[in-house]
Amino acid sequence: MFKGKDPVNIYIDPVCMMQVDPQVQHPTLTYQMRTYHFCADSCRRTFEENPDNYLGEVQPRKKNLWQRYLDRLNKATGGKPPSCCQ
Ligand SMILES: [Zn+2]
Repeated sequence: MFKGKDPVNIYIDPVCMMQVDPQVQHPTLTYQMRTYHFCADSCRRTFEENPDNYLGEVQPRKKNLWQRYLDRLNKATGGKPPSCCQ
């Protein structure tokens, strides 16, 4: 059953690192078995032209802001999901 917004389910645009709300219509692109989400078609085209430029930014070993945020969240909650996500 679909129940309102899921705050965990947010995508990061690998080109501009903006958060993409999954509730909002946005362009996507599947590359190497992964689906990437973009805030705008121009970001999708930029990615398409040179995907490898942006893949490093979303790899876990090279931590980006979003990953650091999740790490901090994990530390603060002891690895449990925050109460807003249950
Ligand atoms: Zn973008």
